[in-house]
Amino acid sequence: MDAAVIIVGGGPVGLSLALGLARYGTQSIVLERKPEPVPESRAVVIWARTQEIFRDWGVYDALRAAGAFTTTFRAINARTERELIRLDWTVMGDVVADPGVLVIPQNVTERVLRELVRANPLCELRTGVEVTGLRQDTQFVDVSYDDGNASHTLRGSYAVGCDGAHGITRHLIGLTLEGITYDTRVVLSDEVLDHDVDEDALARVRLDHPQLRAAIRFAPRTWRIIAPVGKDGSTEEILSEAAHKQRLAEVFGEGVQTTTLWTSLFQIHRRHAQRFIVGRVALAGDAAHLNSPAGGQGMNAGIQDAANLAWKIAYALRGEGDGDALFESYDIERREMITGTIERFTDRLTRVAMGFPLRAKQMAVRAMSRAVRGRGMQRKACRALGMLSGRYTKSPIVDARHPLAGRRLDDLQLPDGTRLDTRRAGGTMIVVAGEFALDLPHVVVPVPPKRWHVKLPVVLIVRPDGCVACVIEKPTQEKIERAWEKAFCSTIPLPQGAA
Ligand SMILES: Cc1cc2nc3c(=O)[nH]c(=O)nc-3n(C[C@H](O)[C@H](O)[C@H](O)COP(=O)(O)OP(=O)(O)OC[C@H]3O[C@@H](n4cnc5c(N)ncnc54)[C@H](O)[C@@H]3O)c2cc1C
Repeated sequence: MDAAVIIVGGGPVGLSLALGLARYGTQSIVLERKPEPVPESRAVVIWARTQEIFRDWGVYDALRAAGAFTTTFRAINARTERELIRLDWTVMGDVVADPGVLVIPQNVTERVLRELVRANPLCELRTGVEVTGLRQDTQFVDVSYDDGNASHTLRGSYAVGCDGAHGITRHLIGLTLEGITYDTRVVLSDEVLDHDVDEDALARVRLDHPQLRAAIRFAPRTWRIIAPVGKDGSTEEILSEAAHKQRLAEVFGEGVQTTTLWTSLFQIHRRHAQRFIVGRVALAGDAAHLNSPAGGQGMNAGIQDAANLAWKIAYALRGEGDGDALFESYDIERREMITGTIERFTDRLTRVAMGFPLRAKQMAVRAMSRAVRGRGMQRKACRALGMLSGRYTKSPIVDARHPLAGRRLDDLQLPDGTRLDTRRAGGTMIVVAGEFALDLPHVVVPVPPKRWHVKLPVVLIVRPDGCVACVIEKPTQEKIERAWEKAFCSTIPLPQGAA
């Protein structure tokens, strides 16, 4: 065996998976075609849920240092310069530690992830190599690649295709991306302005344009323009200098000079593979699902796939219990999250932004703008955008009878000032809420928030990805032992020792 896991593709998802596996002591080799990271900005935001995953793995600080963190998301009307939407992330302080938006272009994210992978002794990154084939049996996966001079084969216990929308892994395991391609196409371009416009705004939106016109700032004076165009019109016409200048004027007004970093016309999709696992091969990121860029969820969703998969592979490899069942739960859980939460959310945003007639769109944005002035709606919006909602209800390893089970557990502040996630540190955890004497290592939450809907005393079993596997009301030691076995398919022994 060359490595426990062979990762095909070293984009943000493949690199994240390598770091996640390393967090659980598992070695991997990443095979990546491109010698250098992508040159374009692509995904420009790392949302709260992804931030906490990186924090769990001890790699967040490097990303945070390379990006720009903000606790306020402010969007303005690009014509009137009046504020449309302001989200104050600090309202989420009881749900996530250090709530906010990390603005960081994907080329920087990939550069930092590559550095972290290269510095980690459990990870190996081979660049400039092209994966060409894959064979698997019940124990191993053999991945073939070409380095430009010769062909090689690597053997691993598992392989994960993180090779993007056009990757080879999905084809090699007989799957396709099914779903829809939207009628609307989108022109994206990155622009460096000669002088900045409203420096406090993260987004500018034209509400009076029949199609949406929007811009997102992702670096000083540097903006991403987003302009949907209908299905008619030739590519040459749409990407012409005149049309480009008009889009700039629509978003920034007349008189702003820009340097265009890149521009492109895209088709947008809502698609996912029929399965995310075949045998010992899994798919993650764009190789498994494609969403509309509305809401900036694509890359984040892929990194969250990696967070679900990393600990499962690591524990499955220990050879105890039913490792196959643990590994296979990735398919059920992530397909449910993608189709039930992420596709729905991005689809709704896409239809409002690109499908609604002008008047309906204006009304929807104004209604949203009014609604999010209230704290409750602020929290709801931050939860949705920050990818803090969503639930695994169909998973065989989640006891979904209680509404808290299958959800990410709030990162509460404890009476001693520490946070739940710091105590868990990317591992498993038993949480006791209320008064219950338990002779196992656990963390006590004396008064849980009402939104947990728990009857005290209650015991929660929390997984390494921060998800609640089981809520045990009227707890007993025997119930806890049974729930623990189910949550981890008996791959992890119940921790022993002092409480
Ligand atoms: C213009 C644009 C704007 C976007 N904006 C956003 C946004 O605002 N927010 C957001 O969250 N997402 C956004 N996305 C989507 C985001 O970029 C993707 O979701 C993300 O890159 C997916 O990461 P990945 O690692 O799964 O795939 P990729 O980034 O596609 O990486 C796959 C990697 O696999 C490698 N590879 C492929 N085949 C092989 C092979 N045979 N052998 C070896 N290596 C191989 C590729 O070279 C590549 O590096 C945007 C995408 C684009 C194109």
